[in-house]
Amino acid sequence: MKKVNNIAVLTSGGDAPGMNAAVRAVVRTGIYHQMNVYGVMYGYRGMLKNEILPMESKSVANIIQRGGTILKTARCMEFYEPEGRKKAYENLKKHNIDGLVVIGGDGSFKGAQKFSKEFDIPCIGLPGTIDKDIAGTDFTIGFDTAVNTAIEAIDKIRDTADAHDRLFIIEVMGRDAGYIALYSGIGTGAEHIMMPEHKADVQDIIADLQANERRRKLVNLIVVAEGHETGGANEVAEMIKHQLPNADTRVCILGHIQRGGTPTCQDRILASRMGYAAVNALIEGNHNVMVGIVNNKIHYTPLDHAVKAKEEMDPEWFKMCKILAS
Ligand code: ATP
Repeated sequence: MKKVNNIAVLTSGGDAPGMNAAVRAVVRTGIYHQMNVYGVMYGYRGMLKNEILPMESKSVANIIQRGGTILKTARCMEFYEPEGRKKAYENLKKHNIDGLVVIGGDGSFKGAQKFSKEFDIPCIGLPGTIDKDIAGTDFTIGFDTAVNTAIEAIDKIRDTADAHDRLFIIEVMGRDAGYIALYSGIGTGAEHIMMPEHKADVQDIIADLQANERRRKLVNLIVVAEGHETGGANEVAEMIKHQLPNADTRVCILGHIQRGGTPTCQDRILASRMGYAAVNALIEGNHNVMVGIVNNKIHYTPLDHAVKAKEEMDPEWFKMCKILAS
């Protein structure tokens, strides 16, 4: 097995809290194994522009608790093209890099998969995305922090909703996956949760709100994922206002606060374990895989299969939400 001596790490796609903890783990584990470790700035764009910097142990000091990513992140159109990837490869070769760790979402893994097939640099993917929408892992770096941020905000909204007997429709992130809505909705006792994975009939929700109105349950929270088929919170509010003119309805879109902030302990631990496992995978010749966590154990999935999870949500979730909110 060819020994890996010089590795690079980058963060790509949307940022997620905990990416810094993952970078730190990769750098320090690599250095422990006498590797030279490089940080690539701005994801694949930095590979193309040769923004590749040597990292030392102290380069990653005091970052485990910081949101965002010290390596910055970007989207890079040129990397979709073979010529762009060739340029990126040539730049990595200037530094003799023979292993690459990519922290990002499924788009970043598609890029890594193509790159690893075209060139002799093995790639390891770490799932860094707040949406928890990647197959081959139970959790992704950033999800827990995003959910906790959403919960903190929704708890505050419930206080003011309670004071005024208001109906609040709260939009959380999740274009294709509703896990932030599901977890934050359950965690805050929301009356309704609307997710892309579950066809929620707005008429049923309205009937339910009317029944609540009759029994003077006037505080209602609806958590909706931005990718729900009816649209976001504004669209849902329009439909409801039309049919429930007496309800004092308000909308709150949580937006980008869900991406920022200090990572939770769970995200720091997850990112640390994954970063450590990524370097071990390179050393052991377990190449072109994504590091995941399944049943609290490190699990490797070939990059070819590490794509957006399209699996159905367990219907037991929906049943439970209905019972607990009644
Ligand atoms: P997020 O889930 O936060 O959106 P992501 O990694 O899925 O993160 P993308 O914008 O889809 O984000 O991908 C990040 C970068 O990966 C792209 O800008 C591009 O450089 C590269 N990339 C994505 N898909 C491909 C592909 N099919 N082929 C080559 N490169 C790709």
